[in-house]
Amino acid sequence: MNRRVVTFHYTLRDPAGRVLDTSAGADPIVYLEGAGQIIDGLDEQLRGVAPGVKTCVQVPAARAYGERDPAQVQQVKRTQLPVDGELKVGDQFQTERDKYAPIVTVVAIEGEHVTLDANHPLAGVDLTFEVEIVAARPATAPELAHGHAHGADGHGHCQ
Ligand code: ZN
Repeated sequence: MNRRVVTFHYTLRDPAGRVLDTSAGADPIVYLEGAGQIIDGLDEQLRGVAPGVKTCVQVPAARAYGERDPAQVQQVKRTQLPVDGELKVGDQFQTERDKYAPIVTVVAIEGEHVTLDANHPLAGVDLTFEVEIVAARPATAPELAHGHAHGADGHGHCQ
């Protein structure tokens, strides 16, 4: 089947029904099917869904942001962290001054010891997406070659 460029709006909820994220009131999302631009489990389940359709897609954690890995939770000394100023539970920062360094979340602080969780905040969470497909069209050859959507509804560049 030919791959498409799909435009959609979504509302993302956790198993308790809390809204985690939504595109409502903002621009819809545009992606090239099968290019890893959105999470795999959602990409797979939206294949062939026609424009105008509203659907509910359940994505288990393993097909979304992965299962939680207990080994990713570690205790370090406060002085080892590249953070100036006050630190509190829930803070998120990068462990190195490098834009590709993983983001960690502070889960506990006891004196000079800080417990950090390097799991993605949505790791281990089963996700439910309420989706409305706004538009879909066949992908162009340059889009397939680049692995992402182009044009007014995607991103433009001069390559
Ligand atoms: Zn491109």
